[in-house]
Amino acid sequence: MSEYSFFAAVEKSFDKAAQFTKWDKGLLEQIRACNSVLRLRFPVKKEDGSIEVIEAYRVQHSHHKTPCKGGIRFSMGVNQDEVMALAALMTYKCAIVDVPFGGGKGGIKIDPKKYTTYELEKITRRYTTELVKKNFIGPATDVPAPDYGTGEREMAWMVDTFATLHPENIDAAGCVTGKPVSQGGVNGRREATGLGVFFGLREVCNIQSQMEKRGMTTGVEGKRVVVQGLGNVGFHTAKFFYEAGSILVGIAEYEGSIFKEDGINIFELMEHRKKTGSILNFPGATNLENSKAALELDCDILIPAALENVIDAENAPRIKAKVIGEAANGPITPEADEILIEKEILVVPDMYLNAGGVTVSYFEWLKNLSHVRYGRMEKRFNENVNAKILEEIEELSGKRVDDKARKLIKHGADEIDLVHSGLEETMINATREVIGVWDANPEIPDMRTAAYVVAINKVATTYAELGIFP
Ligand code: NAD
Repeated sequence: MSEYSFFAAVEKSFDKAAQFTKWDKGLLEQIRACNSVLRLRFPVKKEDGSIEVIEAYRVQHSHHKTPCKGGIRFSMGVNQDEVMALAALMTYKCAIVDVPFGGGKGGIKIDPKKYTTYELEKITRRYTTELVKKNFIGPATDVPAPDYGTGEREMAWMVDTFATLHPENIDAAGCVTGKPVSQGGVNGRREATGLGVFFGLREVCNIQSQMEKRGMTTGVEGKRVVVQGLGNVGFHTAKFFYEAGSILVGIAEYEGSIFKEDGINIFELMEHRKKTGSILNFPGATNLENSKAALELDCDILIPAALENVIDAENAPRIKAKVIGEAANGPITPEADEILIEKEILVVPDMYLNAGGVTVSYFEWLKNLSHVRYGRMEKRFNENVNAKILEEIEELSGKRVDDKARKLIKHGADEIDLVHSGLEETMINATREVIGVWDANPEIPDMRTAAYVVAINKVATTYAELGIFP
């Protein structure tokens, strides 16, 4: 297991897909290479007076478009190989969803639970300062975001540090995304990745040919769903499936996993976890033997939304789901991937499925550069026009539109409406494009390879049109 290289796995998937494209070998090599790797060691003085050396990274995988974009992860699993792999995935992810960024990723090798808030702030601010010193952060160069173990709080510290060091930069707020709304964040970023996972999987479930192949009906209503991880991505994914009428039969967290045949109410489960500190012993549910057991439950859709490599060659043969939605990055090892293809399980790949975060990050960055909230200029105008149209229709027809429809028709779009609709459009288009490439070439063995083909074609076209390669 220690031999395993996540970056090599990404390269392997890339090579598998590259054979279905007709780009020059040198150009393909440039696309898959990691352009810049920043490896940092810096000290932090803890509250007990001790000094600790912190290991951290920032990787810019591709500069075919700038800025580079990708989250910052706080985890003991962070190492250079992992950050490089995640940065590469970001390049391909951005390309598929037409977000004009190169891929980047960052990580600090710490367990955030072992530090006080004061220490975490010190570490985050020092990390940001190091990035500023090396020109590895900025609205035009490299724009981090939250990832595993980080959230709005860390992004607020980062933007404050950057803005302090660059008081002249009027666009400083665009140096990170995933900020609190009060610090230049955008409404809808918090749930974006989970909502994007939902929109992507819902679109897959609407494709009759894919559902028929697996003996499933179309639509997400009534589908039995298992989610691993109830963090930012997992919770929101579970919530949107629950609200769409799916049945959450299993949930896995690091403390264990549970099963409930008739469905788990996700809000009640979150309350239960808040009260007891665990998802275990949830009323009406059965505790499973360990945290990974839920992955093997009989279900329609399995959604790993925690960490990488949770489905490997050992447990893949026992997976019973018909569709796996990779909400986390790299949850399936390449060996497991081959087993799942054999079993004709449809794996909807991380590379585009969890692109909701970066898509809405793009909207946040655009908001920061334009210095105006979405909908501010047109909301009231549209509401006035819509009200006038309603009035005319009612007068001409002599009938009154009911209150529910009236509210809907009159409503002018708020920031959240525009962000959600932009995300829905993006995820539907990306799903159709990837499935379209897969359908058009029967030699392409799986959806992941089809997604890579879409990504490679888009990045290669940019390079080719830049004139860097003939
Ligand atoms: P998070 O820290 O908010 O949540 C992760 C959750 O996984 C936590 O609740 C944690 O307790 C749980 N977990 C840890 N080990 C587990 C185990 N062994 N079994 C079950 N659960 C376990 O992180 P997140 O932001 O939700 O990110 C999750 C994944 O999604 C990561 O792979 C990340 O790279 C990916 N991702 C995140 C975003 C984003 O916008 N946050 C975007 C794209 C991809």
